[in-house]
Amino acid sequence: MTELIDPHCRKLNYLRISITDRCNLRCLYCAPPNLQIPKLSHSDILSYEEILRLVRIGVSLGISKVRITGGEPLIRKDIGNFLAELGRIREISDLSLTTNGVLLRDHLESIRAAGIRRLNISLDTLKPERFKQIAGHDYFRQVWDGILAAYHAGFSPIKINIVAMRGINDDEFADIARLCFSYPFHIRFIEYMPMGNSPLETARQILAPEIMNILSAIGELVPVERKQHDGPAERYRFKEAIGEIGFIRPLSHHFCAQCNRLRLTASGQLRPCLLSDAQHDLKTALRNKSSDAEISDIFLMAARFKPHRHHLIENDSVKSQMSLIGG
Ligand code: SAM
Repeated sequence: MTELIDPHCRKLNYLRISITDRCNLRCLYCAPPNLQIPKLSHSDILSYEEILRLVRIGVSLGISKVRITGGEPLIRKDIGNFLAELGRIREISDLSLTTNGVLLRDHLESIRAAGIRRLNISLDTLKPERFKQIAGHDYFRQVWDGILAAYHAGFSPIKINIVAMRGINDDEFADIARLCFSYPFHIRFIEYMPMGNSPLETARQILAPEIMNILSAIGELVPVERKQHDGPAERYRFKEAIGEIGFIRPLSHHFCAQCNRLRLTASGQLRPCLLSDAQHDLKTALRNKSSDAEISDIFLMAARFKPHRHHLIENDSVKSQMSLIGG
């Protein structure tokens, strides 16, 4: 089998798919309310059939991990049937979903029926009023109920993603981290990445060493041994905790050398790197009735041009909005 191996010998077996650019939240760091973000028209977004065809071609090239993201994936119509179709692709050994959790409760059954067990849920605060300030809508209760419903339904691991923002949620890091004493959640602090027209100043960034320092007030963070297929998070545990703490450090300690990802945007562009605007047009190929072999060649081209590492640290800017790429 021809596989997606890039010039730096990284085997690309993980495809993250944004199925919509739309979202039911307007988070400060992603798609803030004062920013006009043009919405893709229905015809600009790949249909489920088109996405499934691309996944099958990806699988024939060694893709075995697939994550569905957005925008907010759970607002797309008929997501249940789409997930079920993905769940039937036997070669996908790991199918997962990233959501903001607002609609999670209502979709848990269809998510589970598709074989998904691993969920990533964004939650940047435990304060309802602050949730509204960060996310633009008063949905804290729905998100928290969704997280608990997923926990009681046996989803595992449940990863809670917090974008770390100075002066916005840093006073809550310890409280959020303490959730891992009550629940087996993986609490993951993500360094804020300036992308698109995000108006958050870089002064809002808090890097992992500083977050760790804040959390040291709770107790000693003991490193968790990395397994071969671990994602980019650096994992730790407090003694006595049933959950974990993770740090996703694209800025303070980038993980490009281990990156095994390709990203498919809602508009059908294949991106070899989250933090580079380079992309390869699969939508046009699909709509021009290209053969599977021709589409495979575009996947292979994307692998060939995967950057060695990202350059956000040197202040290279990424023009695309995160909501289009999916994180
Ligand atoms: N709507 C879903 C959600 O909220 O999880 C999926 C899409 S969202 C773009 C995926 C992830 O990207 C979320 O965990 C979010 O916190 C993260 N994210 C978005 N913008 C970010 C930024 N500028 N820096 C760091 N993480 C970001």
